Amino acid sequence: MTTATATTAPEHGGIDERAVIDRVAKQLFIDGEWVDAEGSGTFEVLDPSTGTALCAVADASPADGRRALDAAVQAQRAFAATTPRERSDMLMRAFQLLHERTDELALLMTLEMGKPLADSRGEIAYAAEFFRHFAEEATRIDGGYQIAPTGGARFLVARQPVGPCLLITPWNFPMAMGTRKLGPAIAAGCTSVIKPAAQTPLSMLALGGILAEAGIPAGVVNIVTTRRANAVMEPLIRSGDARKLSFTGSTSVGKVLLEQCAEQVMRTSMELGGNAPFIVFEDADLDEAVAGALAAKMRNMGEACTAANRIYVHTSVIDAFGAKLAAAMSTMRIGRGVEEGVQVGPLIDAAAQQKVSGLVADAVAGGARILTGGQAPDGDGFFYPPTVLTGVPESVRMAREEIFGPVAPLTAFTDEQAVIDAANDTPYGLVAYVYTNDLRRALRVAEALECGMVGLNEGVVSNPAAPFGGVKASGLGREGGPTGIDEFLETKYIGVKM
Ligand code: NAP
Repeated sequence: MTTATATTAPEHGGIDERAVIDRVAKQLFIDGEWVDAEGSGTFEVLDPSTGTALCAVADASPADGRRALDAAVQAQRAFAATTPRERSDMLMRAFQLLHERTDELALLMTLEMGKPLADSRGEIAYAAEFFRHFAEEATRIDGGYQIAPTGGARFLVARQPVGPCLLITPWNFPMAMGTRKLGPAIAAGCTSVIKPAAQTPLSMLALGGILAEAGIPAGVVNIVTTRRANAVMEPLIRSGDARKLSFTGSTSVGKVLLEQCAEQVMRTSMELGGNAPFIVFEDADLDEAVAGALAAKMRNMGEACTAANRIYVHTSVIDAFGAKLAAAMSTMRIGRGVEEGVQVGPLIDAAAQQKVSGLVADAVAGGARILTGGQAPDGDGFFYPPTVLTGVPESVRMAREEIFGPVAPLTAFTDEQAVIDAANDTPYGLVAYVYTNDLRRALRVAEALECGMVGLNEGVVSNPAAPFGGVKASGLGREGGPTGIDEFLETKYIGVKM
């Protein structure tokens, strides 16, 4: 493992760290204006690579949240009346601005979230693509015309925006999880209040400025940063004034929000936690499987709902696979994400670092063997090295819990049905990965896996043009793809007597 020193690197291709932070508005964005929180309350945003404060942002109160929802409600009727082409053009302008500002936005994201600059640039491109995708979908909202089966009537089917939305996003993809919701909401003609995670509010605030520049009308997108997520959001959910909640985050919080939404029978989209199996059959191309595992595990330092969490490898190839994966992971460069060449940044906070350390200790106590990594380094920041464990028994905690860190646990298997059963033996069902060169087996296993997405010889499935989402405790609904906009549209049937 190579550890880069945590020096201050103030300049990146001519962009100054301090200037990037200073340029972002730190206030709430309500009804097209940047405003202070009630009582001018603020909270600090930390750099996870040093543990030091980057800046302070507005800490919204419940009254601020209410003002934001009032603005969204007020703006809804006029926004629903805009033409699909107008909404499409707004999204395309925002797409272009995201592209033009990639370097600056990537640096901002790395500072608040920790991921390496290359990953942040990748996320900005991914985030922007949701705007382009939904700019195109906005002009394809369709309806229906049907002759009643018995004649004498015609059925018209119209699609209408669901109404004001509440959008809640996590810290691990601070920009893309926002555009994945805002893109279809805007395309459908819905206004919204969006609440980013308290640990990474800056990317969303920067996005607010871009949306205003792109011509999104006042009140259509309102941004509320707060340390009091429950106190601010629960009254808004229970008010009945918003008609939809779209949430990305943990399953435990998702369940609480679903209960709150039940009171007003709100529509929900829930993108929740995962526990992805990654299965390598004996006939797989081993180098391809290692590359896929590296991508599925190390994207975002393992802090992804799609991260490979349990890696099942056929007994006949597990030693070779483990050696190759450990060799690749042990040479990854760790350090502050802002330093060029760094491939592994810090975890989000001390609790995450402790959790990963605890899961590794528990696995080792249960009989797992460390092939590389396994020890958090001393010093500033919340780093954890890329780690490969082999002989990981099904009984240990990391077989059941999201690791959310750069730890790859390998478990041997011999039988196809047994590995399918093991893969499905979890309350989660977001994504699974299968590596094999046998077409029939690939399709058989993909069909048998209980999950919303399968990567077949593919380590990264996320794509704005594909339907992303899970089954079981991993969520409800799909984001992206041709159906992503449906989550923000109601279907109205109009019966016409002839
Ligand atoms: P989290 O703790 O559930 O928080 C997610 C968001 O919900 C944050 O904005 C958080 O605000 C807010 N929140 C927390 N409690 C709330 C409450 N009672 N009422 C309203 N809002 C509340 O999850 P996280 O730790 O940020 O993110 C990691 C989780 O997200 C993992 O489980 C991961 O698998 C999942 N995830 C899923 C997907 C997917 O597409 N399926 C994508 C990315 C991440 P604060 O920041 O203020 O706590």
